[in-house]
Amino acid sequence: MSLKRAFLSIFTAFWVLSSVVGCTADSSGASESDVAIVIHGGAGTILKATMTDETEAAYRAKLEEALRAGHDVLSEGRSSLDAVIAAIQIMEDSPLFNSGVGAVFTSEGTHELDASIMDGATRNAGAVAGVKTVRSPIALARIVMEKSPHVMMSGSGAEAYAEENGLEMVENSFFYTERRFNALKRAQEREMSTLQVDAFDLPLSPGAEKIGTVGAVALDRQGNLAAGTSTGGMTNKKFGRVGDAPIIGAGTYADNRTAAISATGHGEYFIRGVIAHDIASRIDYAGEDLVTAANAVIMDKLGELGGTGGVISLDRSGAIAMPFNTEGMYRGYIDMDGNMVIQIYGPSGE
Ligand code: ASP
Repeated sequence: MSLKRAFLSIFTAFWVLSSVVGCTADSSGASESDVAIVIHGGAGTILKATMTDETEAAYRAKLEEALRAGHDVLSEGRSSLDAVIAAIQIMEDSPLFNSGVGAVFTSEGTHELDASIMDGATRNAGAVAGVKTVRSPIALARIVMEKSPHVMMSGSGAEAYAEENGLEMVENSFFYTERRFNALKRAQEREMSTLQVDAFDLPLSPGAEKIGTVGAVALDRQGNLAAGTSTGGMTNKKFGRVGDAPIIGAGTYADNRTAAISATGHGEYFIRGVIAHDIASRIDYAGEDLVTAANAVIMDKLGELGGTGGVISLDRSGAIAMPFNTEGMYRGYIDMDGNMVIQIYGPSGE
């Protein structure tokens, strides 16, 4: 090989290599506007016919506040994990949702909170179950993920870890709302063993399961996905019941290679169906796009099991899917073009 040809092939190899690297950087979503966030505030029997204008306006305003808080974080160039925390903490602090203040009651008249978070870049995850005195369970889930060698902590151990790490601790009564207390009384009067108590003091019926868990999924400028979920679980829950929200793969999952997912609904079915991970697996193994995968899992698989609920989901291209098989799901997003959408009801009620 002549010197000239050798030089040419080295030059060509270098050019090909830098194009590939350049390509990877582009497809990682590195451009400044390439951020997105999707949130939910619970799925269940949410009907326009039974919603007052005032209540609807309150939900819309709080969902917008949470979306903007998360989006501001992303616009500043901070991480999708920061955005998920910012959005969820707005909802944890609002009595409208079943997480933090406004969490449902256990059968013993207390609040036991579950939360989890997952980092799509590393697939590291953190979760807490049955915590009673931590103001922000989602913040504790992140500390478990980032500071401990573990993925999940529960009960008094998780609370001790929160205190050790300087998180704000509160009395269990901090989470009290009259509405949720009345829901517990109604459930107990009717001897419902688990959940399905409507949030608007509507007459209780087996299908009236507005529950109110919150969740967020986000994509940051670095092209990293994250997902988080926070909940009080189910009204009148007993025996230290833990739902899907803190179970990685059931209620929460994030993987840059597939999608970020947060679920809401009847947790036992989401655990049995490993719902969040199943959506990611269909993308991974079957090559499905996000919308196809999320719809199939919620509309077919979850329904076949007998489960009710929905998910919010987002991939690195900015695709968004928010399927649910209940009458409604509080939900919203700000997409990569900056469009904000907030929805509450199903196709028939919107
Ligand atoms: N999935 C939650 C649980 O089962 C409840 C909900 O999403 O509303 O604990």
